[in-house]
Amino acid sequence: MKTSALYPGSFDCFTYGHLDIIKRALKVFDNLIVGVAVNPHKTTLFSREERVSLIREVLKDTPRVEVISFSGLTIQKATALKVNAIVRGLRMASDFEFEFQMALMNRSMNKHIESIYFPADEKYLYLSSHLVREISMMGGSVSAYLPPVVEKALIRKIKQQRGEDL
Ligand code: ADP
Repeated sequence: MKTSALYPGSFDCFTYGHLDIIKRALKVFDNLIVGVAVNPHKTTLFSREERVSLIREVLKDTPRVEVISFSGLTIQKATALKVNAIVRGLRMASDFEFEFQMALMNRSMNKHIESIYFPADEKYLYLSSHLVREISMMGGSVSAYLPPVVEKALIRKIKQQRGEDL
């Protein structure tokens, strides 16, 4: 039987840290679904469609991975998709508390779906989408953290926003 997992997240924007988790997860699972979470209460820089299409572009030559978007509870989506596990990345201790709580809550809703955590690569321990957005907005280079197609889209998006603001 093939194993599959859902890797949910905001991915606003998709970084090499996310890509690293995908590659690690593909060593363990036969199939991986990257789920762009859509939360109506959370404002994102990139729209649902933009996030999905950027991740698809980055992963276009990576087999066994699919990119979707979803709204609502991750555990409900994971149940509907019939995956074996939910995959997340762990950077520092600060991720742990929140993730542990989520994992236990998700388990209480569906005890058949395991939460599996991959420690981040040391290179990306401090990397977050939020910081990348901040650095880029302040004019810093983020090419070390983002696939080129995402970096281009981020720069374009920031310029677009500035244009609208002026
Ligand atoms: P969310 O809002 O759901 O936390 P993110 O896009 O910030 O969405 O993160 C999605 C997942 O990817 C989370 O499990 C997060 O811990 C993981 N992640 C984010 N950045 C990194 C990184 N640099 N290295 C490893 N994992 C990461």
